Amino acid sequence: SAASRKLVILGGGESGVGAALLGKSRGFEVFLSDRSPLQTTYREVLNTARIPFEEGAHTEGKILEANEVVKSPGISDTAHIVQELYRRNIPVISEIEFAARYTDARLIAITGSNGKTTTTLLIYHLLREAGLSVGLAGNVGASFAAQVASDQKDFYVLEISSFQLDNMYDFRANVAVLLNITPDHLDRYDYDFQKYVQSKFRIVQNQTGDDDFIYFAESKALTTELEKRTLPARLWPISLENKLVKGGYLADGVLTVRGHDQDFSIPSEDLPIQGPHNAINALAAILAAQSVGISAEQIRSGLRSFVNAPHRLESIITLEGVEYVNDSKATNVDSVYYALGSFNRPIVLIIGGVDKGNDYAQIEPLVKEKVKGIIALGTDTKKLADYFIGAVPQFHETQSLEEAVRTARAWAAPGDVVLLSPACASFDLFKNYLDRGDQFRNEVLALKPTPIEVN
Ligand code: ADP
Repeated sequence: SAASRKLVILGGGESGVGAALLGKSRGFEVFLSDRSPLQTTYREVLNTARIPFEEGAHTEGKILEANEVVKSPGISDTAHIVQELYRRNIPVISEIEFAARYTDARLIAITGSNGKTTTTLLIYHLLREAGLSVGLAGNVGASFAAQVASDQKDFYVLEISSFQLDNMYDFRANVAVLLNITPDHLDRYDYDFQKYVQSKFRIVQNQTGDDDFIYFAESKALTTELEKRTLPARLWPISLENKLVKGGYLADGVLTVRGHDQDFSIPSEDLPIQGPHNAINALAAILAAQSVGISAEQIRSGLRSFVNAPHRLESIITLEGVEYVNDSKATNVDSVYYALGSFNRPIVLIIGGVDKGNDYAQIEPLVKEKVKGIIALGTDTKKLADYFIGAVPQFHETQSLEEAVRTARAWAAPGDVVLLSPACASFDLFKNYLDRGDQFRNEVLALKPTPIEVN
């Protein structure tokens, strides 16, 4: 029984603290361990709940006494303590796996290399606007486990990263969404892309014929793997190229879903999120909403009222005829590919940061076609320089965001777009992608000529 079971939580962030609360409420003997200092709020939550914890170090003896361990997705499998747990065959699971055991809610799980947050927020918005009892969890918002411990909903919409999927075994998604699989995070997968593909496909494990699987049919690595499998779930492909009889597609500027309870269509220009990648995300959300029985009218009004999270092709301002767009969340090459594809105007591109093993071949044709100048921002801009000097009319390197924005303004003409879409992590010059996007927004808004005061 749970009362005699020792549950150790590795990592005292949002997911770990949530798992600790849920474990405690279910009668486990819980101990939480974090190698780094905890945030004050989490420390207080644990103290209030009388959950013992340590910070600044892992006490191995205590951790290895566990019957089961919930590991934060931020801790790599190569960490010494995790290796020791695996060596002793102590089960190591993710917070999502743990929380799913304790709820009967229907689970809608979204993964992919790009588009997870946008699609998750949109599905959540559609369900909530339709009046369903629904929670938002996973990589966004409050921990799934904490929500299961405190108030149960009928539905949960879960954004799931590959790091969480790696430690999921019995989890079953009633509706699974797989948006795409392109190289990312390979440093955590022995630089073996196939391992990353297998991780992403854990999203469909345990699905039955009563479940739905929604996926983008033009993501090559995804379809190659899908062809090797026979999935019991109902399949809902999404296409940007073909008019499907069953599934969702974009054709002639209209998003269409066919073969579900009723056919559905909406012009893409009616959506608040733009670009081909967002057509995929919206089609996935429509299919998911239909899977849980939401009416066409409710889906339509929910799509129209959706407001996406910032830093994802976020239009900041149009100044002197130039639109400034913040796409700081674009931390890999594939997302920059879609960002460039979203504009039919000349682009001044601000790109760069911490390289994750990028290959820029994918965006080279689009850059040559649309980009009138590249500003390489970061401490290591060599690869960008090697690739793009000579390929674009203007190229400038800098470590100053202020200088990057000033240069972009000088190069841009009315009708152009200044796009921050870095393709890289942000840790060289910024705290994280949010900080990078916020600083960019501030620099852009500071460009605005101060209005003259009239008394
Ligand atoms: P994630 O949560 O997977 O990182 P987001 O929704 O936060 O995804 O979007 C991250 C970036 O990826 C955005 O800046 C956007 O330009 C790009 N993007 C969004 N959806 C897709 C998609 N379906 N395919 C490719 N790129 C996308």
